Amino acid sequence: MTLSTCRRCGTCCEKGGPALHEADKGLLEHIPMKDVVCLRRGELAFDPRTQSLQPLPLELMKIRGKGAGWECVYFLPREKSCSVYGHRPLECRSLFCADTDAIHKAMAEPTLTREDIVQKGSGLWTCIEEHENSFSVTEALGLAKAEQDCAGAICSELDDLIRREIHFRRVLAEKVGAKDEDLWAYFGRPLWLALLPLNPEFSRYDQV
Ligand code: SF4
Repeated sequence: MTLSTCRRCGTCCEKGGPALHEADKGLLEHIPMKDVVCLRRGELAFDPRTQSLQPLPLELMKIRGKGAGWECVYFLPREKSCSVYGHRPLECRSLFCADTDAIHKAMAEPTLTREDIVQKGSGLWTCIEEHENSFSVTEALGLAKAEQDCAGAICSELDDLIRREIHFRRVLAEKVGAKDEDLWAYFGRPLWLALLPLNPEFSRYDQV
């Protein structure tokens, strides 16, 4: 049997929201930034083409998941439908699991980054740069992987990096009167959360 229409099973939305492309920029008038997450360069992300976690060669903006999970924040599980259907991004409009040509083509389109949504030289951009320079994902991943190889506990250098990042984010969130997760479009997820796929031990920073 050949499937010719979408069965609306919801599996694609359960697996995660779409990455945003240049073609989606206009949709940001309808999609609030609190519903977007930046996946920073070097972060481990699920690659549907290889069905595995891979470090991102470039940063991505993505519709965020519910809480710390990845099920798209706009997915309505009971109705198996999308709460922003009229404004759904390019990848969602292109995805048909019985014929993946269109989604592969969409995924190859230029993606949005923070440079496309935040004015360079603004106060927010300065904070983003400070965060990037002080709390590199690549450095944190390198430290975490070295520990994984030695099966050791979280080393003091990585612990210090994670704690300083939590402090940075907390101060910033208090200053602007927002919750940390509402700023994920600008600063990505906390380092400890980005490292969680490597070691469940990192969940202890949720309590810090
Ligand atoms: S935006 Fe809508 S269609 Fe796209 S993954 Fe989320 S719920 Fe599904």
